[in-house]
Amino acid sequence: MSRAAAAARSVALRDQLVAALRNGDLPMSTPELAALSGLPWHEVGWWGDCTLVHDLVERRDYKLLVCTGQQRHSVLMPPCPGSVYPHLRRLEALGIVARVDFADLAIPTRLQLIAQESQRGNTRPVYWRYTDDQSDVAFNAVLDAMERAG
Ligand SMILES: [Zn+2]
Repeated sequence: MSRAAAAARSVALRDQLVAALRNGDLPMSTPELAALSGLPWHEVGWWGDCTLVHDLVERRDYKLLVCTGQQRHSVLMPPCPGSVYPHLRRLEALGIVARVDFADLAIPTRLQLIAQESQRGNTRPVYWRYTDDQSDVAFNAVLDAMERAG
């Protein structure tokens, strides 16, 4: 991939992450953002009892592609959190997104997030929010700068 194509892909990915955070009511975890990032999901084979496999797939918001009824499953899994984390760090450095300090959240919000993530099997993820103190003009200027910087 050329440098320009890689830079364009980074900008598109960061734009997608920001859009997800802008549209969400709650702060989002890195795994949740990876799932919404637009990066490709990957197919894996899972052997196991239907009850266990189907339950896990459902709780984690994966997608069940194939169930043979005889232990063999094919499951679609989201991109790993590590594939979006560096981009979130970059957006954080630019002041577009911010890490959420759990202690600053209202208790009902904290409980809602904990329930959501434990159901998905994520332990103590990092949460992010959009910092809406940026105007659209300022935001577009930052995106342009990112595009040039790569
Ligand atoms: Zn099954």
